[in-house]
Parts: sequence; C-alpha cells; structure tokens
Amino acid sequence: MPHELPKAYEPGAIETRWAEYWKDEKLFHASTPHEGHVRNVFSLLLPPPNVTGRLHMGHMLNQTEMDIIIRWHRMRGDLTLWLPGTDHAGIATQMMVERQLRSEGKSRRDLGREAFIERVWCWRKQYGGAILDQMKRLGASVDWQREYFTMDENLSGAVREVFVRLYEQKLIYRGKYIVNWCPDCGTAISDLEVKHEDVPGKLYEIRYPVVGSTEFITVATTRPETMLGDTAVAVNAKDDRYTHLHGKKVVLPLMNREIPIILDELANPEFGTGAVKVTPAHDPNDFQAGLRHNLPQIDVMDERAHMNENAGPYAGLDRFAARKAVLADLEAQGFLVGTKDYTIALGKCDRSGTVVEPRLSEQWFVKIEPLAKRAIEVVEKGYIRFTPENYKQIYLNWMYNIHDWCISRQLWWGHRIPAWRCGDCKEVIVARETPAKCNKCGSSNPEQDTDVLDTWFSSALLPFTSLGWPEATRDLEVFYPTSLLITGFDILFFWVARMIMMGCWFMTPPEKPVQAGRKPESHEEALRNSVPFREVYIHALVRDAERQKMSKTKGNVLDPIEVIEKYGTDATRFTLAAMAAPGTDIAFNPSRTEGYRNFANKIWNAARFMFLNVDRLGGERTLSSAKSVDKGVAGFKAETLEDRWILSRFNGVAGYVNEALETYRFHEAANRIYDFFWGEFCDWYIELIKPRLMSEEASAKAATETACNNLVSAFEASLRLLHPVMPFITEEIWHAIYDGKPPLKSIALAAYPQSNEKQIDLKSETHMVVLQDLIVSIRNLRAELKVEPKVKVPIQIYLHELEMRSVIEQNRSSIERLANVEQISFVETSLAKLPGARHTARFDVHVVYEQKIDVVAECARLKKELEKLEKDIANAERQLSNQSYLAKAPANVIAGLRKQRQENEVLRNKTKSKIEELGCP
Ligand SMILES: [Zn+2]
Ligand SMILES: [Zn+2]
Repeated sequence: MPHELPKAYEPGAIETRWAEYWKDEKLFHASTPHEGHVRNVFSLLLPPPNVTGRLHMGHMLNQTEMDIIIRWHRMRGDLTLWLPGTDHAGIATQMMVERQLRSEGKSRRDLGREAFIERVWCWRKQYGGAILDQMKRLGASVDWQREYFTMDENLSGAVREVFVRLYEQKLIYRGKYIVNWCPDCGTAISDLEVKHEDVPGKLYEIRYPVVGSTEFITVATTRPETMLGDTAVAVNAKDDRYTHLHGKKVVLPLMNREIPIILDELANPEFGTGAVKVTPAHDPNDFQAGLRHNLPQIDVMDERAHMNENAGPYAGLDRFAARKAVLADLEAQGFLVGTKDYTIALGKCDRSGTVVEPRLSEQWFVKIEPLAKRAIEVVEKGYIRFTPENYKQIYLNWMYNIHDWCISRQLWWGHRIPAWRCGDCKEVIVARETPAKCNKCGSSNPEQDTDVLDTWFSSALLPFTSLGWPEATRDLEVFYPTSLLITGFDILFFWVARMIMMGCWFMTPPEKPVQAGRKPESHEEALRNSVPFREVYIHALVRDAERQKMSKTKGNVLDPIEVIEKYGTDATRFTLAAMAAPGTDIAFNPSRTEGYRNFANKIWNAARFMFLNVDRLGGERTLSSAKSVDKGVAGFKAETLEDRWILSRFNGVAGYVNEALETYRFHEAANRIYDFFWGEFCDWYIELIKPRLMSEEASAKAATETACNNLVSAFEASLRLLHPVMPFITEEIWHAIYDGKPPLKSIALAAYPQSNEKQIDLKSETHMVVLQDLIVSIRNLRAELKVEPKVKVPIQIYLHELEMRSVIEQNRSSIERLANVEQISFVETSLAKLPGARHTARFDVHVVYEQKIDVVAECARLKKELEKLEKDIANAERQLSNQSYLAKAPANVIAGLRKQRQENEVLRNKTKSKIEELGCP
C-alpha cells in the first residue's frame, strides 16, 4: 500500500512524532571514534540554559541557527557533536526555591544548609527539565546521550581541580576588597551584574574643622552617611590652596574623631574645592588610596546595608534613613554648607533592582592578568574569529582593561569553595578532598568556607570539562577545540571571554592532559589548539514587529511555544532564519510566520500531487538507495528545456546556499531556498511537466515515466536542501517518498546537496528566463485588456534575437497552455508601438484582441466626463482671474490650482479625441 500523506498539512502532529523518533533512535549521538582516521569533526557546545529557564525568542533564534549549522555539517558527512546541558544557575535557582519556601512560611535558614540544598535538588528533579523538553519541540539535534548538568559529580570534580590548581599557581587569592554588594540578595555581585542608570541626585558640601585652627576644609559627597567611616581627607600636593595644611589633621564632624590630611592623586585641584573625603571601606577609589597611605578601613554598615556599631549613634538605621539623620545633624551643627543638584550614575542590582552598595568584604579572586594575556593573544593572532567582525575589537577592549575576578558568592546553591579554615590555628587549607586534619597544627577541626563559586566559574570551564578534563579522554582529543560557538552579545564578557581565558590556560601544557604516545606540540601549535572554539558567531536580538525590545513591562513578549503551536516549528524556524542577517536585529512579525506556514503548505500539496501521479502510473515509489547519499540530483534524465533548467538552477542554488551557510548568512540561504522551491520548482517546473506527466497516450509512456522519475528525484534533492531549516516536513515527505522503506533512518543522515558544475547549463537558464518573461508578459497584457479567462488569444512575436525562435517553437505548447494562447505567429517588424503590446530587450509581444465595447454606453460615459472637466476648468479660470483672490490666497494654493487646471486641460483633450475615435453622435 502506498504511504499517503494526509490531505491537510498539520504541523503539530508531524513535529511531535519526528522529535520523539529522533531522540528514541539516538540519531544525533556522536559516538567517540577509535584510533585511526577520523572524519572531519564539527563540534558545538550549547550555551547551557539555566535550569530555571523557560524558552524565549532569543533561545529560539540561537537554537535555530545552531541546529541549521549542525544539521548542515552532519549532512555534509562530518562527525558532528552538539553537546547539550543545563546550568545550575546559583542565584536564580536559589531565589526560586526560597520563594517556594516563603509561600510555606519558611526561610532557607529554618531548613539549614544541607536540607536546603536537598530541597533544591528536589526542585531541579521536578522542574529542571522544562527547558530541555521545550528544546525537543524545536527539533534541536543535540546529542541527548551526552547531556550534562553543571553540578554533576564529574563536572564538580573538575571545578575543584581548576580551583586548586589556580590556587597553587597563586592565581587565586583571598582578600579584603571593595565589592558590589546587593543588600537584598545578600551577596557580592560582579561588575557585569550591576546596571548603571543616571538619576537626579544631590551633592552635599560638608566642612571639616582643621585641628588647632579656625579654618575648615570643605568636601563634597553624594552619600553623606559614609562620612561616618572617613579615615582621612585628601588634597593634591600641587594644590597651593592647601600647602599650609600639609601634615595637619581635621576633626570628623558627628564622630569627633581626628583624621589626617593626606596628599594623594585622588584629589583633583580642578574639581570643586580640590579636597576629598577618604572612606576606604565604602568606595573602590578610596579603598586604593587607603592602601597607599595605610589608612584604617572602618566599615559602618552590615550586610543588609543597615548602619552598624561603628556608626555611633546612627547604628541600626537603614542607610537611607541614616543619610537623612546625618544631614539633619550636620546642618544643625553648622557643618553642612551647601546642597547642589547633581546627576548620579546609580548602580543597581541586575536581579533585584536594589541600589548596590560598595562594600568591604573578604572574597576570593582570580588574578586575571596572566589568563587575559593569553586570551588576548589568541584573538589578536586570529586563532579565534568573530562574526560579525566588530565584536573582536569590543572583546579586546574589554580584555585590555580587565580587573581581577571576584569569584565567591554568599549563597548556598552552587559549587562550594574547596577551602577550609582550621578552627584552632586559622590556617587556610585548599584541597581537592575534604581534609581530615589541619596540616599545620593537626587539629581535626577544619571548617569549609561557606561561600560558593560564581556560576560563571564553572560554565567558563565547560568546553573542556564537558569532554572529560582533567582526564586525557579521547573525546577531548577528538572534539576539542570545538568548532564554533553561537551566542548572544549579552554574555560576551560573562561567558565567552572567560571560556577563552580558562580554555587557553588549562588546555596548554602542562595543564593539558595528553594521551600516552602523543607527540608534543610546538608552542604555537599548542596555543592555537588551546582555544575553546575556533569561531564565535554573535547573533542579534529578536524584537517585536515594531522593532521594540521585548519586555514584560511592555507586554510585548512573544512566547515561541505559542507561535509554534499556531504555525508549526518549521514555519517559526524559517521566519527566524529568513531574517537572521549577521549583526541585524530581527523584527519578529507572526504574519511572516503565517507566510512560511503557507510555504510549507505549498510543498505539502506539491508532494501530494507527486504521489498522486506516482500511484497513478503504478510505478515503484521507492527510489534507488543511491539517491539520498548522492550529493546532487541522482537518476535525473534531462530531456527537455525545463529539465535542463531545473537541474541547472538546483545546482546553482545548492552552491549559493552552501556558501551562505559557510559565512552565517542564514537569511540568504533561507530566502534562496524559498525562491527556488516555491517560485521555480513548484510554480514553474511542476506546471511545465504536467502534460508529459499526465499523458495517457501509450506512445508517450517512456516520456511520462521519465517526467515522473525526474519529479521525484528533484523533489527528494530539494527536500535535502531545505532540511536544515525545516527539519520536520522534509523528514515526513522524504519517508513517504521511500514508502516507509528509506535507505537511511532519517533525511538528517542523507547527503547535503553540493553544486555539480557539469549540471550547470547557463544557456538553458537564459532560454527559460525568456520563456517565463514571455508567458508573464502575455498574462499581464491579458489582464490589462480585460480578456475573459476562458478566451484563448492569438499573439504576435517580434524577436530581437533570432536564436530564440526555435526555443519558442519547441515550447509552443507550454506557452499556449500557461498563457492561454491559441496561435503564435512571428512578425518581421517591431510591435512596440501597438496598443496591447509589450516591448522587452529580447522580444516584443502583441496580444491580438479587440476590446468589445458598448459604444453607446462608452460615449455617454465620456461625455459626462468631458462635461465635468470643462466645469472644473471654468471654475479654475474664474478663480485665477479674480485679482482680490489672487492677492489673499497663499502662493502654494495658487500654484496648485494652476497645475490642476493644466492637468485637466490635458485630460479634456484626450477625452475629446476618444469621443472622435469612437464616432460618438
Ligand atoms: Zn540583588
Ligand atoms: Zn590548625
């Protein structure tokens, strides 16, 4: 029984079925090759979505692009690995579970650390797979057998290994440092997690009395509550205004503490009074100045940003309440000398929106400079390429100015820092395994650091840890460096830059694990092969149809799953691909998706037409198994112009599409396939072969069979061309072509079409263009002349090139059928001037057709028109000769009136001559 396609194209049913099939059959598993020859390798790491995540349009674009590239490489015969996983997302996940606890009236502290972490694991088990399930709906051809979670035991082990090695190399240190502190999240956050925003604020001027003098020094601040922690006032050594005060002290108002006047570059003589307060515990620049002058660091706030015991009478107040109280007291005591409006670049926590407080705390840091140096070198040398290219400079500029990386977070969920402090002698022990004893005093009382690592620390290692590092695995040898990374600009510094730093550090000797018996690489070779990926493609943003950024507050967020349910995954993927020009944001309009659903529908109907004919001819539908592994159109016999043409076009398009994908011009690839499949294959080729295909004459049997065979061959090859962009519908029809007995388990494993020079036939393409142009011209002329659809018209053709005459004669029946023509004659003189004719570069064509006109009715209409025109002209003339009107009316109105009159006069003359032509009474 022939396998029938259902009458209507229903993407939902097809897509779920194939998504399950691909997964169940493990079709996208890249098994590790043994020793010996390895095919071309193409490997790609999926940017691991947060385990708390839901799929959004950005993911959908990202994954569509990755899937297109991966499927294309797989079909080209590469050993292809697309490695999926999820990120434990420290702070996001912890907050999710804390919210859940709050709804039960509990907090994480009620549970305690261990029980809380247990709870997070439960949460993850229950909800953590949601985003991966959504990915399956997209058809993402990832290797599900290799799925990882960043908190898996082996990956956590690798994280500890990296930490210990960096610590031993003195590249990880613990230090007091000013960090960005979020009082709501209760943790340090990195510079990248702080969003700055200009807001109107105040600049307060406060005067500090100089000890043993009646003088004051005036300083200015936007955060007056921090003065409680001042430990100096700085002036510039070159500032003459203060020379006489060098070496003196001031009294800190409200606190009545004496603090020194220091000489430091921090004070800029050009700015304000030239004197500044120094608060080492509450400002990053002051912190550095404090180190230079050995100043005490007085922390006046606690972790919730409430004033602490160091704030004297203000202890216990929230920072903003303290600000008010401090200002009131300064004013009352005569120390507040001015208040000015001032724009403040306020830093807010990206997650909670709380104003970030610079805070002194003990944190773990990565000494970044040695790592950054290599990460700069590999990009400067082109060992990693960026697309679009401008991201290279953006990356480098950031790397040139990079600061040490604060990697500790005051959270419970995450990779706990592998450092212990001896409860007795306070020795710090950093180790791979929990130490039983202090290695200094022998005490059995070491306590583990309570902080966890920044989530980006573990994700920075993924390109090598997900392949088995620190073991010298075969996976690492075969699949590292990965070939490509596709990601968004928003994580260029968070993630991309850090992967490069970590990859280049741990995948060069001596950190790089090497299998026994391998030759050592040269220094340069080792550097080139240490990169986590050879190319980075930074994709654009998906905006709404009006080019607005999608945001919850604007309410314009499109849920990709909803779009998919409405139009199908294939159409949604195609929309994104067709708009994904490198560096250009996508204005996503679902009406386009509807258009691409129609494209799928068109292909579906064309397939049904094909099967109808195959079945009618009683032929074996099954193609020879050679076909899908062929890189072109196999078994195609080019016997007619349209055959030679479609074969040539197919090869041209295949060449173009391969080139476009090579340089991530997804939009050009998708649009070219669309134009070919719909515009050329469905609209022209299928129409042109219909008479051959449907002929019932016995003498034409061979030609009919060839036509049918050609149709199936070209269709099958076109499906392969389209497959990476629309994987589901192509899989469905492809299986139907093989009648359920395909030579391979999936079209995804078939060969991607490559251009075959020998099948390119430019002459046929030119001839077909002329033929198409002729047919379209006749159709347009018929429409202009309002020829009834049923009426066949004779045409005359004048050729500028005689060569075309035989082409037209050979294809006479096609022209007659497709343009509804009954008689074609050739003439020796140009037809360009005739009414009902069209002039082109290669031919003139004339549709011989007398418009049948009801003369009486037409004359009546023309006379009425003439009357109206004459009335309008008379009115205009009257106005234009009225001097007082001319004096008052604006010039442009008068000019408009004159122009109108002129146009009406032209129309009047035309109408008059038509009336004469018709001989109206
Ligand atoms: Zn926060
Ligand atoms: Zn000890």
